[in-house]
Amino acid sequence: MNGSISSLIDRLAAAHRLEHGEYKALIDGRTPEAAERLAALASEARKRIYGNKIYIRGLIEISSICKNDCLYCGLRRSNRSCQRYRLDADKILSCCREGYALGFRTFVLQGGEDAYFTDGRLCGLLRAIKREHPDCAVTLSFGERSRESYERLREAGADRYLLRHETADAAHYAKLHPASMSFENRMRCLNDLKALGYQVGCGFMVGSPRQTSETLASDLKFVEAFQPDMCGIGPFIPQSETPFRAEKAGSLELTCYLLSILRLIRPNLLLPATTALGSVHPFGREMGIQAGANVVMPNLSPQAVRKKYALYDNKVTDGDESAQCVASLAARMAAIGYEAVIDRGDVIRSD
Ligand code: SAM
Ligand code: SF4
Repeated sequence: MNGSISSLIDRLAAAHRLEHGEYKALIDGRTPEAAERLAALASEARKRIYGNKIYIRGLIEISSICKNDCLYCGLRRSNRSCQRYRLDADKILSCCREGYALGFRTFVLQGGEDAYFTDGRLCGLLRAIKREHPDCAVTLSFGERSRESYERLREAGADRYLLRHETADAAHYAKLHPASMSFENRMRCLNDLKALGYQVGCGFMVGSPRQTSETLASDLKFVEAFQPDMCGIGPFIPQSETPFRAEKAGSLELTCYLLSILRLIRPNLLLPATTALGSVHPFGREMGIQAGANVVMPNLSPQAVRKKYALYDNKVTDGDESAQCVASLAARMAAIGYEAVIDRGDVIRSD
């Protein structure tokens, strides 16, 4: 490993920050040795806060209907061949019951921006989940809403909200989204969520079209400044019915490298080894954990709808990606020295 990369890594581990140009150099100059060193430091940093615990979340994909047209996503409204569905409250509650029995203590409700899920409906659902499972956390991921809406959802019991910023570079954001969506509104949402007391997750795809080491360095600077509690990153994977169908997928190797960097920027992050990682490599999740991730989110949606939530091609929905296989997932974690725990898995804030 060249000396300047090695000293950047040491400085990042000690100071939890670098300059924009230094992040770019760390990304451009990466080598297998640098990745190994970053992963070792990231593992130490995580161990100091979370030990060898891996938090599990049950992911319930409640609607494939979306009013937006993000260029990368298979659920975009222009995709005529996407099979649309939405789950009703009873179905969602029965997924939670099943998840609870399997040992999940966080439910992540995610979906497209579907107007059916008004504040009233979501608040009713949140209250019902909390009534049945007062010891569980609920994470929402429904995209951009008004501050008032986020406030109502928070009051009804939502603990966390995942809204990937997608890219911290406004010009790049405009290349991934239609003109009807704005970088400013995405930032407004993230700031509102934080001000309302949610545990907030941002994040981005690795290898999204037109991404560069410059824009990635901006993402890392954004994480430094925003100080999220969670950060979801996974490789971009093309979907055949989107404008990005012919673009290259993001790399597993760069995703893992960035997971390690993120862990060193913010050691207490809840950092998932995402489904996208598990989709590009059979051991993608383990590789993510070994790079610094500490969360896995197996799928708790009803089997019948899983294939319909087709964000990208070849998304894994069965085997150990399935919440029903949590025991086998736990065994896989144990095989690499980690313990999948029955726990809400809240962020541990040291600052
Ligand atoms: N609609 C909500 C939103 O956009 O925040 C939540 C659901 S959305 C499908 C969740 C995440 O999926 C997005 O933030 C995006 O980063 C990711 N995603 C969408 N299309 C993808 C693709 N082709 N490859 C990898 N990840 C993708
Ligand atoms: Fe809709 Fe989210 Fe997909 Fe964008 S990323 S099209 S908001 S589901």
